[in-house]
Amino acid sequence: MSDKPIYVSKPFLPPLEEFTPYLEQIWSNKTLTNGGPFHQQLEKALCKYLGVDHIALFNNGTIALITALQAMKIKGEVITTPYSFVATAHSLLWNGIEPVFVDIDPNTLNLDPSKIEAAITSKTTAIMPVHCYGRPCDVEAIQEIADRHNLKVIYDAAHAFGVKCHCGSVLNHGDLSVLSFHATKVFNTFEGGAVVCSDVEIKNLINQLKNFGFVDEVTVDIAGINGKMSEVNAAFGLAQLNHIDDALEARKKVDALYRFQLKNVNGIKCLEDAGEKVTNYSYFPILVDETYSLSRDQLYQKLKNNNIYSRRYFYPLISDFPMYKTLRSSSFSNLPVAHRLSKQVLCLPMYPDLDSDDVIRITGLIKNNL
Ligand SMILES: *Cc1c(COP(=O)(O)O)cnc(C)c1O
Repeated sequence: MSDKPIYVSKPFLPPLEEFTPYLEQIWSNKTLTNGGPFHQQLEKALCKYLGVDHIALFNNGTIALITALQAMKIKGEVITTPYSFVATAHSLLWNGIEPVFVDIDPNTLNLDPSKIEAAITSKTTAIMPVHCYGRPCDVEAIQEIADRHNLKVIYDAAHAFGVKCHCGSVLNHGDLSVLSFHATKVFNTFEGGAVVCSDVEIKNLINQLKNFGFVDEVTVDIAGINGKMSEVNAAFGLAQLNHIDDALEARKKVDALYRFQLKNVNGIKCLEDAGEKVTNYSYFPILVDETYSLSRDQLYQKLKNNNIYSRRYFYPLISDFPMYKTLRSSSFSNLPVAHRLSKQVLCLPMYPDLDSDDVIRITGLIKNNL
């Protein structure tokens, strides 16, 4: 174990000397939070960079999800995917909403639109899909179903920073999209998140909700929460935004090298190559099937023994955690594809400055020729 450890992700940091002038400004103007100048600048800069109308910054993606549901007044049941990070469903439980899990598409690992309608009941009010690994959902099919049944669509777009589909930013689909800027994500503000929307009234409501419900100094007319992003976090986002294109380009190269090294390895499948589509290469998942020489967990352990820390995202399924597993929609027979793939998936280390030599070492271990 002489090799240095390689973790599944590594936070993306701009040069420190580019961040210190922001700190000096905060020290001199003494505005630490509550929609200060860097908060306003970052909202503007992100709207422009991402190609969206409105962004409300948050202290993290989970509070942003919870607040997005509040803003749309979602109640009853919401259709969602079991194949995601647990915060997706937790945001529903925190609003007293019942998640109804629907199976995923085996190729995209996103909610399978052909299975959504069968799960709709008189209590269904919305669909909450996830653009898993930054690969766009079938946004048209989902919208068509939502329109037909008068449902809202709230995307958990935590993985989808900068992702585009045929008609521009994927974040422009649905009623709202929610981003996470957690340290492990493509674009980070240490902790942070945002709600993206196209309706200025919804944006104003979200601003009110994230600030305890204050309308003005003496008026509070809804029970809001504290979801505000601080000036330090917003400043960090501004410093990082100057480097995001380089980071995405570097991720693309890592993705291409993994694909080249892993092609024709028996029992190892990469997800479909994004090709010319604008994606963010946020993760590098592989599927380990029964024709590979080791089980998925044995491969995970072998990499770990070599100081390489891959992650089983997403295993267990959300629907298998104790607060969800008694739901009718959590049954194995309702979610066969999600169950099968969550036992096969392994996310390999993926970050902008992952060395080619390290990718070759990792794939060498997978190919068993080291
Ligand atoms: C990271 C993540 C979240 C939560 O975001 P935080 O900023 O960590 O609160 C929600 N959903 C998905 C799919 C995520 O990957």
